[in-house]
Amino acid sequence: MSHPIENKLATLSRRTWTRTIAAALGATAAAPLTQAQERRVEEERRAREAGMIRNAPIGYKETIKVTKLETILVKPRWLFLKVHTDAGIVGLGEPITEGRALTCATAVQEVAPYLVGKDPRAVAHHWQAIYRHAFYRGGPILTSVLSGIDQALWDIKGKALGVPVYELLGGPTRSRIRVYAHARSPRAMQEAMKNGFNAFKTGPAKQRPSRYIETPKQVKYAIERFAELRAAVGDDADIGIDFHGAISPALAKLLIKGYEPYNPLFIEEPCQAQNHDVMAEIARGTHLPIATGERVFTKWGFREVLEKKAATVLQPDMCHAGGITEVRLIAGMAEAYYASIAPHNPLGPISLAAGVQLAASIPNFLIQEQVSLGEGYVKQPFKVSKGYLELPVTPGLGVELDDNAMADKIGHDWRNQESYDADDGSVVDW
Ligand SMILES: [Mg+2]
Repeated sequence: MSHPIENKLATLSRRTWTRTIAAALGATAAAPLTQAQERRVEEERRAREAGMIRNAPIGYKETIKVTKLETILVKPRWLFLKVHTDAGIVGLGEPITEGRALTCATAVQEVAPYLVGKDPRAVAHHWQAIYRHAFYRGGPILTSVLSGIDQALWDIKGKALGVPVYELLGGPTRSRIRVYAHARSPRAMQEAMKNGFNAFKTGPAKQRPSRYIETPKQVKYAIERFAELRAAVGDDADIGIDFHGAISPALAKLLIKGYEPYNPLFIEEPCQAQNHDVMAEIARGTHLPIATGERVFTKWGFREVLEKKAATVLQPDMCHAGGITEVRLIAGMAEAYYASIAPHNPLGPISLAAGVQLAASIPNFLIQEQVSLGEGYVKQPFKVSKGYLELPVTPGLGVELDDNAMADKIGHDWRNQESYDADDGSVVDW
């Protein structure tokens, strides 16, 4: 229900509105608004336009119960979750381990008997119950399912109170969220720059799946291709390099030495994340920041990364590491080691929205990964300007699915890629 003051404000023009708020912030002709104040004015105007001021749909402590957990397979390889409630509020999440969508969908239904009938707003309590009552704790599948459910419960809580999730987590800690795009060629990076990006991620250029130790020709090929990328975007842009854990530690050291003069933003997963001592040794051998985290789960997994100093950029995935509840705690652990958080995200717009809410509630955020800004999936896709996303002002996670636009994207049978050595047929990483 709208407030009488809002009805009046709604009729004000944008210019009048800006003047009104600017005056309230103490701006004068002699002392105009700072950029940060201007952004606050704009955020407040957007919130009012969206009807989000004084807009909680139910009262604090009015009863609300979970009625159903619904999963939807969504192309290209995602799994969306809708947690339905008897208040009509629906929470969204992405409870997915890539390549195991059906397994995750089944695991969601195995959690449903616990959650149905309960108040969804006790988010941290439900996290503990779902994680600890499993007896066998963690693992990629169960932690991903817990992550997606956690996102949906935060979405419900924010919507019930009429505020974005970051408001419930002590935020906002920032007014815009930096993002990067994937690009592998100079042309692709320059195109992305035209679309507002100034940070990118690429992989080591390869002419074949990497051998344990590569030839000087292959090492030179990788470094020269990266030098071309650096020349294409200049020294004021950022480029991370993702080794995907598909390079042996011995070859990783060779490549990193070659990349050092070109100052990549970070070297991601220079080896697999199953032996943090080895990654720590690689980290000690270079001044370049080492990043890892997409295959590390919960605070217990990241504890070892931090204690062994294996990485200074942590990349928990909002859909794998334990959701908003857990990644916020991981960020606090990272802060004690002066490490930053760059949420991993090769998934959909709900995952991105969860990362944005996290970024706006922690101090040590570096940059957010994305492969979709939500076009064709959500009603209000994210927009990139000068490398940043605007901070959402709508309640919960800030995204609503566009069921009509998604109609042609329902269902998939995506499988992980199989890679073999072309010369001897042995299994290789991609
Ligand atoms: Mg990666």
